[in-house]
Amino acid sequence: MHQLPSYLQSGISPWDVFLEQVDRVTPYLGDLTGWVETLKRPKRILIVDIPLRRDDGSIAHFEGYRVHHNTSRGPGKGGIRFHQNVTLSEVMALAGWMTVKNAAVGVPFGGAKGGVRVDPRQLSRTELERLTRRYTSEINTMIGPDKDIPAPDVNTNEQIMAWMMDTYSINQGRTVMGVVTGKPISLGGSLGRREATGRGVFVVSAAAARRLGIPLTDARVAIQGYGNVGSAAARCFHRAGARIIAIQDMSGTLYNGSGLDIAALDAWVAQGNKVAAFPGGETLAPERFWELETEFLVPAALEGQITRDNAARIRTRILAEGANGPTSPEADDILRENGVVVVPDVLANAGGVTVSYFEWVQDFSSFFWTEDEINQRLEKIMTDALAEIWAAAEQHKTSLRTATFILACRRILQARDMRGLYP
Ligand code: NAD
Repeated sequence: MHQLPSYLQSGISPWDVFLEQVDRVTPYLGDLTGWVETLKRPKRILIVDIPLRRDDGSIAHFEGYRVHHNTSRGPGKGGIRFHQNVTLSEVMALAGWMTVKNAAVGVPFGGAKGGVRVDPRQLSRTELERLTRRYTSEINTMIGPDKDIPAPDVNTNEQIMAWMMDTYSINQGRTVMGVVTGKPISLGGSLGRREATGRGVFVVSAAAARRLGIPLTDARVAIQGYGNVGSAAARCFHRAGARIIAIQDMSGTLYNGSGLDIAALDAWVAQGNKVAAFPGGETLAPERFWELETEFLVPAALEGQITRDNAARIRTRILAEGANGPTSPEADDILRENGVVVVPDVLANAGGVTVSYFEWVQDFSSFFWTEDEINQRLEKIMTDALAEIWAAAEQHKTSLRTATFILACRRILQARDMRGLYP
């Protein structure tokens, strides 16, 4: 657990990381190289002031953002983050990764992202609702079901999506289900969406393990972050017979070498208890987490966690990025030298946006699919994408991240090229 993400301490911003990743792919773009500059400049950025009347009558101000990174392949799509450390650079990078991710799995969206610099734990429920509604109204000009479709991210959830949908709908004078995804099922949400990102992390991890001959049964798994993504991934690994030996979150690092009882941990957390205080394991010093010998390591918290400071100490076979941007480019190189297979965020956590796409399609057609149909389609899209990216990595002798960027950036820039430049 870090007090501050290490990129904030090192001065390397998430947007710098994104630019470096784009630079690494440029030699592979051939005729499309002339368009690469487009990826280095977000299409449009909105910075908003969110005045909030606190419960005690005072007024506080918060800064919010919505960024459209690129809409060459379709409307903007990307989550909304509420966090005390949100910066414009972070939201720009997250929007850029959405552009790449959506192209990597072939969903017809561009990339967008939003955020508010606020610690939601310091707000009451009614304050959180007012903040969400005012933020939604302030970014009203940017969003819409055929324009830009937000979804949950760190510290936002189905309830916040319901308030966003309601606020947008009231401003439009009609109910517009498809303006956000990750909604409650009762409001046009999709079955399987809540677990989709973690499930997708598991699906691609398992597919990579099959290629490397690593059995899932009894495999050791360490997960950082036990929110939406980390907890869903843990349940999938656990069901497949793997052992979750460590979980690190804001409360500390929990360890049990024989495997944590995930159902008991979920019940413990549902009662309002902290992960690290779970009686079915012991606590570890935070830095020990990165040194654990595992088959799978899943960062599923925030960006900037794996840097040159800890990359060399990582002893895992497959590092599947549930979080966006957890690994710096320098750390990527160290991991590759040490034979760690990194399944990059832009592929590994694409399950969320894939089922968001299903939700958006279902809302438009007002025809809802079964959970089985959703999970099967999700699994097919993720395993096909992994196979295609694995082959590209072998062909170009690159990391999976660069291979994902090669395939995705070609799709984005081909669309850009076909559309041409206006005027
Ligand atoms: P969440 O708010 O549900 O959970 C975040 C988790 O991270 C919590 O367990 C928290 O304790 C932990 N955490 C926060 N700061 C930490 C720190 N410094 N050290 C250790 N743990 C820390 O968020 P989420 O929706 O699960 O998102 C997690 C990551 O996955 C983010 O990078 C997000 O962008 C990415 N992601 C989320 C989705 C989605 O559908 N929710 C989709 C794609 C990617």
